[in-house]
Amino acid sequence: MISKKYGETFADEVYAEAIEARLDLTKFCEEVSINCELQMTGRFTGALSVADYDTQAYEAERLNKVKGHKAYMVDRKDQHSEIATDLFHGGVVREEIGGFHPAKFFVGLLRCAEKAGVCVFSNTTVIDINNELNGKKSIITKIGTIISGKVITATNAYTGTRYRVGRFLRKRLVPAQSAIIVTEKLGFERVNALMPMLRMYGDTASLYSYFRPTPHQDRILFGSRSFDKVDATDRTVKYLKRKLVLILPELSNCGIDYVWLGNVGFTRAQLPVVFEDDDIYYAAGYARSGTVWAFWLGKKVAEQAMGIGNRPSVFCGSSPHRLLLYDGKPWFLPVIQYYLALKDWVKIGQY
Ligand SMILES: Cc1cc2nc3c(=O)[nH]c(=O)nc-3n(C[C@H](O)[C@H](O)[C@H](O)COP(=O)(O)OP(=O)(O)OC[C@H]3O[C@@H](n4cnc5c(N)ncnc54)[C@H](O)[C@@H]3O)c2cc1C
Repeated sequence: MISKKYGETFADEVYAEAIEARLDLTKFCEEVSINCELQMTGRFTGALSVADYDTQAYEAERLNKVKGHKAYMVDRKDQHSEIATDLFHGGVVREEIGGFHPAKFFVGLLRCAEKAGVCVFSNTTVIDINNELNGKKSIITKIGTIISGKVITATNAYTGTRYRVGRFLRKRLVPAQSAIIVTEKLGFERVNALMPMLRMYGDTASLYSYFRPTPHQDRILFGSRSFDKVDATDRTVKYLKRKLVLILPELSNCGIDYVWLGNVGFTRAQLPVVFEDDDIYYAAGYARSGTVWAFWLGKKVAEQAMGIGNRPSVFCGSSPHRLLLYDGKPWFLPVIQYYLALKDWVKIGQY
């Protein structure tokens, strides 16, 4: 909870900017006609303990004081109106949150950028960035060099350690893997019976789970931390399915049609960052919520680089601190993941 860790004033600023960021994204999709199945469904987050429920209730009360937020608690006895589970001790609904199809959004954004004259070179690794005598930068890629006045690095959790260019950011950013499974076709009726409000969903586990009906509302998508690194194996499928069935036991016999994983980036503070170092501008560290923040902070970092825009993001600041004993290889991640899994197990007696 941001307010407990960083104080109420900062938390309120983040909450206010989150509303602005979401509105900006929905307005953009509308204005440039990106059909990415954007649905402002609201999100229900189930509490895994009574203490978690109380924490949610405290935060909901605070959230509602910030313009644009609409949070309310759902008691355990009423939670079947949200989701067909007895695992949760009630939960919180946040009406201002929604979901979209990220791949469709990405395609729409790409088309829009290309239409505006942006040159996009895919599969083109930047190997190095050097200072030129005239104050410009040369960006060396595998297929040639570009000279530029301004450079923005947005490599986030895919920042590598192989080339010098990524090392500064990577020492300040830990990549972790998140994985998703999608059930076989269940049909609308069955999905609707399990998730009557057809919202986005989450829980209060330390190893957070996120789940939702797919955009066509005939399957269920479920995601959480992955124990695989590059390719999702059967181990990831089994782990995620077990977590899904814990929430929705009715799905114990359902098949899984899709699985994939990817990287998400964490700073030490577990908050996004926008900063400049040696005339290179960075936006990174969205943890598990980059779909809105990456779009918004991409805009904010561009404003900062161009010296335009009248209000920096609450996340603009100096470069984030390095992590102690971390040179870019997250050797400690398995230990942390097992520790968090143990915490969840202690909380609910299984997981
Ligand atoms: C399984 C999964 C589920 C998720 N679920 C959610 C969710 O429900 N809600 C949410 O808000 N967020 C979610 N996220 C997080 C969200 O997807 C990310 O935060 C977001 O994609 C970050 O966008 P980005 O453009 O900053 O970075 P990325 O999308 O990670 O892109 C970085 C790019 O930089 C490129 N790159 C790296 N190094 C170089 C180099 N040297 N030269 C050239 N290019 C380079 C990479 O190839 C990559 O294309 C999820 C992520 C995953 C993996």
